[in-house]
Amino acid sequence: MIVEMRTGTNPEEIDGVVQRAKSLGLGVQLNLGTDKTVVALLGSNTGQLSTDIFAVLPGVESVTRIMKPYKLSSREFKAGDSLISVNGIEIGGKRIVIMAGPCAVESEAQLAEAARTVKESGACVLRGGAFKPRTSPFSFQGLEKAGLELLARVREQFGIPVVTEVVDPHDVSLVSEYADILQVGSRNMQNFALLTTIGRSKCPVLLKRGFSCTITEWLTAADYLLAEGNNQVILCERGIRTFEDSARFSLDICSIPVIKRFSHLPVIVDPSHAAGHYSLVPAISKAAVAAGADGLLIEVHPNPKEALVDGLQSLTPSGFARLMEELRPIAESVGRYI
Ligand code: PEP
Ligand code: MN
Repeated sequence: MIVEMRTGTNPEEIDGVVQRAKSLGLGVQLNLGTDKTVVALLGSNTGQLSTDIFAVLPGVESVTRIMKPYKLSSREFKAGDSLISVNGIEIGGKRIVIMAGPCAVESEAQLAEAARTVKESGACVLRGGAFKPRTSPFSFQGLEKAGLELLARVREQFGIPVVTEVVDPHDVSLVSEYADILQVGSRNMQNFALLTTIGRSKCPVLLKRGFSCTITEWLTAADYLLAEGNNQVILCERGIRTFEDSARFSLDICSIPVIKRFSHLPVIVDPSHAAGHYSLVPAISKAAVAAGADGLLIEVHPNPKEALVDGLQSLTPSGFARLMEELRPIAESVGRYI
């Protein structure tokens, strides 16, 4: 951490910073310039300290971090890539894992048809929300426990693991009885009580990026899961909010190589929520695979016109089958396979 003192600061103020740093067990390096004094604070845990501790001291102009605030999710903490295993399926390895299915579980027939078709095309995880975090309280909120029971039945029938969202810390144990992967939605990325409870559950977890959150905040949220001992964390980029409004969100394709650089956790991409329109999904799915994503989470509905949620961004089974075929050579070109 670097503390820049105000021009004309006095020796007592500089000493105040030095003493505060020493009281926290930090090393100190002073750079006394002609106009400005800069104090470098040294220690392995400066990333976890609030910059405010120094910013509030008299004579301090600004405080800049050098260390990242996240720790357990960082490459410094673990150099090699983490591999997450879900029912024998490895996420973060050479295989690009495709998760697909409807936005929401609507009925047994809908879910079974989705499972049958996505599996036939090569998806290896079925998605489907039983608890839906909706912007409006008047929108369909999901079938809840009945939806989980349908997921369990279809999972059994087709032998495909399922990823489903949990929105409330009180439902974590219930949802983990049915889910192979717990999804934390974008709106809940910084619901720290939810993250802590899921961290204790040890169930594999898909942590979506908050649509207004930086990558640093996302990785720091992942630390909440890791700190409780849950090492089965998969990140999911799903688009962020920018000034651009021609798509539902702006897919931050850059976050994929950034995550690969700074974190050991696997990262997948949800093109459907980023796009908001089915016609955009194939192109951004291909871009994500080319950019190094470890998987995709794609909305597919047997009959998008009848979908209760997100029909406009859902692929039909035949559209999904076509996309899967188009993705294979792209995966191969980056040394991966589907
Ligand atoms: C979803 O995957 O169904 C969902 C609600 O996504 P997000 O949390 O990314 O909006
Ligand atoms: Mn959706």
